Amino acid sequence: MNFFFEVEHVIPTGRGGDDDEANLALACRACNLHKSDHLDRHDAEAGAPARLFNPRRDTWEDHFQVDRESCLIIGLTPIGRATIARLRLNSLAQVTAREHWLRLGLFP
Ligand SMILES: [Zn+2]
Repeated sequence: MNFFFEVEHVIPTGRGGDDDEANLALACRACNLHKSDHLDRHDAEAGAPARLFNPRRDTWEDHFQVDRESCLIIGLTPIGRATIARLRLNSLAQVTAREHWLRLGLFP
């Protein structure tokens, strides 16, 4: 079964974001729900809050890498780690799906 991506606001409207195309991005249902109206998350390694990855401005490879053995996404920066934690990118459901995508060459 396929799920449609949702159009989400990078800066949530409740936090001052607008409907301009530069503030919109596609997100899966799980990511959009976990992100909710958040802009950041505490990064334990840095000991400080870090803003979330901005898919319109940031480059994925600068902040994340995939461990092909464990299928986990590894955060390379405070932004990467905060985003993984906030969006629960390494939840069991996500990692199970990623395992299949990696095997099929669909990810990253
Ligand atoms: Zn997602």
